Amino acid sequence: MITVKNTFAKDGPLAKKLGRYEKRDSQIRLANAVERVMEMGGVLLGEAGTGTGKTLAYLVPAILNGNRVVVSTGTRNLQEQIFFRDLEFLMDALGLTIRTAYLKGQENYLCKTRLNTFVHSPKSLSYASKDVAKLTRWANLSDTGDRMELDEMSDDDPIWREVNSTRETRIGARCPFFDECFVTRARREAMVADLVVVNHHLYFADLATRMQGGAILPSHETVIFDEAHLIEDIATEFFSTKVSSLRTERAISDALAAVGAAALRDDPYANDRARLGKQAIDLAATLFDLFRGPLGRANLESDRIDAAHRQYYHRLDSALEAFEMTLKTLEGCEESVDHCAHRIGAIRNDLGEILEHNDHRFVYWADTRRRSVILGASPIEVADYFRNEVLFKRETVIFCSATLSTEGDFEFFKSRLGIDVETEELLLDAPFNYPKQARLYIPNHRIDPRDERFTANACHEIKQLISLTDGGAFILCTSFKNMNAIYADISESWHGPVLKQGDAPKFSLIEQFISDPSSVLVATTSFWQGVDIPGHHLRLVIIDKLPFSSPSDPVVSARVAHLTEQNRNAFMEYQVPQAAITLKQGFGRLIRTAADRGIVAILDSRLHTKRYAQSFIRSLPNAPVIEQFAQLKQWWVSNV
Ligand code: SF4
Repeated sequence: MITVKNTFAKDGPLAKKLGRYEKRDSQIRLANAVERVMEMGGVLLGEAGTGTGKTLAYLVPAILNGNRVVVSTGTRNLQEQIFFRDLEFLMDALGLTIRTAYLKGQENYLCKTRLNTFVHSPKSLSYASKDVAKLTRWANLSDTGDRMELDEMSDDDPIWREVNSTRETRIGARCPFFDECFVTRARREAMVADLVVVNHHLYFADLATRMQGGAILPSHETVIFDEAHLIEDIATEFFSTKVSSLRTERAISDALAAVGAAALRDDPYANDRARLGKQAIDLAATLFDLFRGPLGRANLESDRIDAAHRQYYHRLDSALEAFEMTLKTLEGCEESVDHCAHRIGAIRNDLGEILEHNDHRFVYWADTRRRSVILGASPIEVADYFRNEVLFKRETVIFCSATLSTEGDFEFFKSRLGIDVETEELLLDAPFNYPKQARLYIPNHRIDPRDERFTANACHEIKQLISLTDGGAFILCTSFKNMNAIYADISESWHGPVLKQGDAPKFSLIEQFISDPSSVLVATTSFWQGVDIPGHHLRLVIIDKLPFSSPSDPVVSARVAHLTEQNRNAFMEYQVPQAAITLKQGFGRLIRTAADRGIVAILDSRLHTKRYAQSFIRSLPNAPVIEQFAQLKQWWVSNV
């Protein structure tokens, strides 16, 4: 009989399949704990550093357990790795077949109704006819409707946004294409699967649907959250209400296109509808413009909503209501028209919720982007939702990540998600010898990050460091402003390629980085985590500042205020541990295998001057700290 124990044994099926199998104690400890908690029920928190083999550690007991398991990841990369690589490998190694399903967020699938409306609408004429023809041809041939199959289409190709399924546009069972719909088919497959791989967004979409009596995922008693440190942010995003100028304009345009596609004869309201639609688009443009501010999110205090905002809001609401009514006169003629009327109604509801705000559990904000303005309301805390909808409704909940703990315990993570039940906890170090493989360099300067000399000094440090390692460096910045300033300075003087986040898709930047050993990549948020470059290619990670969330962000400031109201130390209990987890993620880019050697440099002098510095240092892997460049150089020359 195959058991978890013998699967990981020296002569077990994994060893036989792999040939060169290395038994890892921490992997076995995690697998045993997962098996135990799956049998008994309960909550397990497992921090397993890079190289532990944590996905196999939870997948083996999940496969052998026999009950349905949902695995939810934070990123698509990990979702694909689990489904296409790890599960296939394990089923082959164990000689077992279970039904598995891979379900993505619905925006990844083509919507046949939207495609049908799009190709018959004048909008399609604004795209190259060969692109429209290619899309239609693919839609007719594809079995999955998954945009991953369209590998020539770039991530942000606007044509995809015209035809993909979205939460807002999906009609559901009344849709004429429902049975052949790609989303329906993918969900049906998931309904009968033993193990379903999803991402956190979809998991929360399922929770929200369940709260309204429906379901996206099959019923399950066991859920494994990998990359669990991302849950709070994703849950906050998910339980937020948002209305953007683009959403409003698109809903009205889609409605007009749907009416056009319905080709109704003798429609007495046709002219009124077109006029009202146009009027609503103009009013929406004016209203959202009134909220336009400097780029980024700003708090939408009640006193920022003045008489002009209210006047335009009420005029827009009336125009949308009238427009919705004229659409409803067509109800029953065409499902997509009917659905557009619901979308307009939902926008009115959401706008009302945001602009007439009175729920003290939410923070209200306006986000100014280059092409749109978004108005939103976000929950200040997600702990109650999470506790009630996940912890109390599932028998077994397993959290894994390489970064769940701060200062050696899980208290911060538990408090953010409201985990106040008994838990089993495992803190497993990465199987690396950090004292031998890495150095943490914190230069001994005293220039505060708020000092205007900081960036120039940071660039000086960076040039010294990349000369020492001859490139092979990630420079992880805490803001776009810093990233651009550092990039401008370094790219002028560095002899090798200097790459910058945003100049090409992420995978292409990584390929370029690897192709030249002297490369330097300057980046911000999206390279702090989920990037795996083992070996000598990446040998230096430079972090400009401690990654505190911006205190001016409305959600962060509301959380700080909320904790302060409870007489708690928001800085030490929320801001420091949150930043420590992000810092640990950044650090984690460096050492990916037992053969890697390298330096992590943190250029923030607060690690020398502030009392909280130790909270950061204690949360990082135990690489020795060096303050003098000469000493660092000596280590580098004699060890790498
Ligand atoms: S069911 Fe929804 S996603 Fe599927 S084709 Fe219809 S509208 Fe599109």
